[in-house]
Amino acid sequence: MKPEPVTPLSTPYDWLDRSLDSIHKANWYRSTQTVTSKAGAIAMIDGREMLMFASNNYLGLAGDRRLIDAAINATELYGTGSTGSRLVTGHLALHEELETAIADLKNTDAALVFSSGYLANLGTIAAIVGARDLILGDEYNHSCLKKGGLLSGATAIDYQHLDLGDLTAKLQEHRAKYRRCLITTDSVFSMDGDLAPLREIMELANQYGCMVLVDEAHGTGVFGDRGGGLTQALGIQENLIQVGTLSKALGSLGGYVTGSAKLIDYLRNRAATWIYTTGLSPADTGAAIAAIRIVKTENALREQLWQNVALFKQGLQNLGIQAIALDSPIMAIVVGDIPQTLQIAQSLKENGIFAPAIRPPTVRSARLRITLMATHTPSQIQKLLDCLSK
Ligand SMILES: *Cc1c(COP(=O)(O)O)cnc(C)c1O
Repeated sequence: MKPEPVTPLSTPYDWLDRSLDSIHKANWYRSTQTVTSKAGAIAMIDGREMLMFASNNYLGLAGDRRLIDAAINATELYGTGSTGSRLVTGHLALHEELETAIADLKNTDAALVFSSGYLANLGTIAAIVGARDLILGDEYNHSCLKKGGLLSGATAIDYQHLDLGDLTAKLQEHRAKYRRCLITTDSVFSMDGDLAPLREIMELANQYGCMVLVDEAHGTGVFGDRGGGLTQALGIQENLIQVGTLSKALGSLGGYVTGSAKLIDYLRNRAATWIYTTGLSPADTGAAIAAIRIVKTENALREQLWQNVALFKQGLQNLGIQAIALDSPIMAIVVGDIPQTLQIAQSLKENGIFAPAIRPPTVRSARLRITLMATHTPSQIQKLLDCLSK
């Protein structure tokens, strides 16, 4: 006799309904908004023209004709895909050119390009520390630094945000129990826009025999005389590991690690997120090379960005609006209450301004995150200030 078919009361996927429900109840639910225009200060979002104050395209390069042409030229020369992993068929002369350009921008021996900044951090951290090692990271570090720590199997301990006293205490308490130690930090914190005390961190690392990994995702192109990042602006010359992205001020896609020739040589042999994935596309690579050339030579673009930062900063101060920090193109205005933050973001949107609410779990307290670009005009910035004053 055949068994009765079982009519399942539930399916193995029912938990999705319950989980989505709790995300909604916590006001954590997020969804995408569709952009139908070229990257720039003005964007078409969900069919409406908006002033863009949320983009990481700090220098406006993602819509720059020279990057577009470079991407087209690279595609004409090499095709659309790089066809394989870097160690097999996917290593193009264009990749070498980009890696040389990054090392020159950063004044380091060598660089390695990954498919994204996220993968660069995951792969690097997992390759350089393991079960016998310690990672001390700023509690507000980007997700990929934290996930890299998990993947590595090292003991990962957070120190309080920007708190050198806490970092020192944790070094004293834990350092001696481990083989290697890696200190990790964003240079410019992605959600708050404040800056890591890199000089002091380097000194502590030196004192306690630690490696340092600095994530320059929001620093590259923005800080430093040649756009080399906060590390360059602070004149840090010592050996350290710098990670970054090609997708923010550089207007392309991809990530990189830069440092000593030995480090890069080692990563080519040990970073799984570089070895087992396809090389960066010719278009992205070509665009990034063009971007680095512009970033190194066109100070005017960076100066324009910093003028806009100064203008907005002055405006906020005149209105008595507090931002977490005023030292970078990222200005975070903490509202605290999630519904109220969402409502402010919504009312800005109704006024044609895109400056989104950033909420838990991305950050601890809800805030408006505003980012400035070199391509904003003073009147666009004034419009944002007028709306904020209401
Ligand atoms: C955006 C960002 C990354 C990830 O870079 P992608 O190239 O977008 O993957 C890494 N670290 C920080 C601090 C970031 O802000």
